[in-house]
Amino acid sequence: MPARSLIIQTSFLGDTVLTTPLIARLAERTQVDVVVTPLSAPLLANNPAIHELIVYDKRGADRGVGGLVRLAGRLRRKEYAAAYHAQGSVRSAALSLMARIERRVGFETSAGRRFYTTRVPYFENEHHAERLLRLAGDGPPAAIPQPRLYPGAPEREAVDALLREGGWGGEPLAAVAPGSVWATKRWPFYAELAEKITGRVVVIGAAADRELASQIAEAASGRVIDATGRLSLLASAELIARSVAIVTNDSAPLHLASAMGTPTVAIFGPTVPEFGFGPLASRSKVLGNQSLACRPCDRHGPQRCPLGHWRCMREITPRDVAQAVQDLLAPSPLPTSPP
Ligand code: SF4
Repeated sequence: MPARSLIIQTSFLGDTVLTTPLIARLAERTQVDVVVTPLSAPLLANNPAIHELIVYDKRGADRGVGGLVRLAGRLRRKEYAAAYHAQGSVRSAALSLMARIERRVGFETSAGRRFYTTRVPYFENEHHAERLLRLAGDGPPAAIPQPRLYPGAPEREAVDALLREGGWGGEPLAAVAPGSVWATKRWPFYAELAEKITGRVVVIGAAADRELASQIAEAASGRVIDATGRLSLLASAELIARSVAIVTNDSAPLHLASAMGTPTVAIFGPTVPEFGFGPLASRSKVLGNQSLACRPCDRHGPQRCPLGHWRCMREITPRDVAQAVQDLLAPSPLPTSPP
């Protein structure tokens, strides 16, 4: 039996997507299990490089020291040769230590670094997919690695049903993803953008994004297929893959699009792609207000603009975004109304 390795990734959804190149690399030489959150686990379904997905519900059923001890005991019985900390908390480091995993690899900047046996440099100027791949110990990647997701038959069927219900007749689909957990990262003009696109628009997002979706549906009456809260994350990735392009904020759908290779217009407000989370689809374009000295103002994006004017987002116009989409898709642009 090959040696077993464990990857611990309990961060945000985007981080999970960006961990897939590391998973694939390690799977070339060892059996790989991955510890993930309940939210992220379905995203990694069908990934051929993963032997076992281990769900760690650190804020629910497994919360507290009791949950940590239980999981560590479970991991100890699997006798992993190495643990790779794609998420750098002290809790994750304690988990691998308590599981008696001899080799513990993580970033030299992580909170849990004192528990690691191997510390890997963390380069601020690299894409996060590159940084994570460095944990494999092969030195700097030759190129930014491409994340991958694997929607299966249930996801395809869910998307087929949604499109059927939406009266889709095979026209090009333009995806928009208006949501974000952080309010200042939500570009406010998706409805106006949808008005400009004369073809079919699909709205990607969670149930929490329904209000945003209904504003878009109102603006582009009869042309919107609202997928918010209707599809799993992996099925959303399938729908994004079927779209000719996506317009998204700096949020999870950006990374789903990277994994599915969908041309992407990414709108960055209080954050910047230089943090390491820009789009990776081969055709992608980043829009951000370059004229502001206050930008970036926060690693994640605050809930309110600390200066009150929120110019980083408000000054990116629907016309700018529509043009970016057309530039990306030339010479087969989407049908749009004249500016
Ligand atoms: S301070 Fe600047 S970058 Fe931050 S939210 Fe406000 S306008 Fe955007």
